[in-house]
Amino acid sequence: MPDWQRLWRDSLRDPAELLRLLGLEGYADRLSEAGRTEFAFRVPRGFAAKMRPGDIDDPLLRQVLPLRGEELDVAGFGVDAVGDLAARGGPGILHKYRGRALLVATGACAVNCRYCFRRHFPYAEETAAAGQWQAAVDYLADDESIHEVLLSGGDPLSLSTAKLKTLTDALAGIPHLRRLRIHTRLPIVLPERVDAEFTGWLAALPWPTTVVVHANHGNELCGEVAAALARLRAAGAVLLNQSVLLAGVNDDGDALSALSERLFECGVLPYYLHQLDKVRGAAHFAVEDARARGLHQELMRRLPGYLVPKLVREIAGEPHKTPLA
Ligand SMILES: *Cc1c(COP(=O)(O)O)cnc(C)c1O
Ligand code: SF4
Repeated sequence: MPDWQRLWRDSLRDPAELLRLLGLEGYADRLSEAGRTEFAFRVPRGFAAKMRPGDIDDPLLRQVLPLRGEELDVAGFGVDAVGDLAARGGPGILHKYRGRALLVATGACAVNCRYCFRRHFPYAEETAAAGQWQAAVDYLADDESIHEVLLSGGDPLSLSTAKLKTLTDALAGIPHLRRLRIHTRLPIVLPERVDAEFTGWLAALPWPTTVVVHANHGNELCGEVAAALARLRAAGAVLLNQSVLLAGVNDDGDALSALSERLFECGVLPYYLHQLDKVRGAAHFAVEDARARGLHQELMRRLPGYLVPKLVREIAGEPHKTPLA
């Protein structure tokens, strides 16, 4: 078994244990049952090691800790916030935008982020990995308007490299594909995933490839992560980052500009800063649109244009992500 799979298997599965490791056991009464019932708690130990001991407001801790706020039923926060069920193009395919189709390669992730729309998506039936890759590949092959495939999930890098290779070997037979994109948080939360077998696969792909990672705070991008990102670049991938604007995590100008600066040091350009998808259980992460715009304007004043992510929201039925600013 590769090292990364061992580390993944050894992830923290109990929020009370994480609180103990950080010396925060006194806060156990703030935990929600939702971490056991509707969306399992899961955090790689290496990611937990970047949290500040003794700080219940740590921005990395806040992204993963199931808090009582998840139990609030807030108007407008539902189970299919971005119209995924209507955009189903075939088994494991979401086809919303012209020229691009998203392949749900797997439902699994290395970390479970509490703000994620995935907490309600019926992945068991909808992943292309459930023995149905052929149907997904057929869908892509039949539509010549599709020039870019996005491997997403879940997190496609939670699949073994051998499985990824099986998939891209099948895609390689489709003449109208020009680009491949991989959406993944694994290089951030489990950088050991970017091993030699993986970079060998990446470097040998027949298309120009973009890897869009997902970090929300500069503290996620220390030592080993920077090295993993450097390995991805060395394998020829273009590196972009997407973040979600999250109350209590990155909703201030200093945190957002430090994130952009740190990304650049790691060879990654900021791509999108997403307004939160309105999923039930995540309302305590919401930031008002007016504040979001103000923060985005602050970034434009403070940073070169290429380090300012596009502030967008996903609106069901729209032909692209919708800019807020
Ligand atoms: C966000 C998204 C994309 C990618 O959009 P870009 O603007 O090209 O980054 C593609 N397909 C689906 C279903 C998406 O949700
Ligand atoms: S899909 Fe991305 S944001 Fe959602 S739980 Fe997985 S890693 Fe986190």
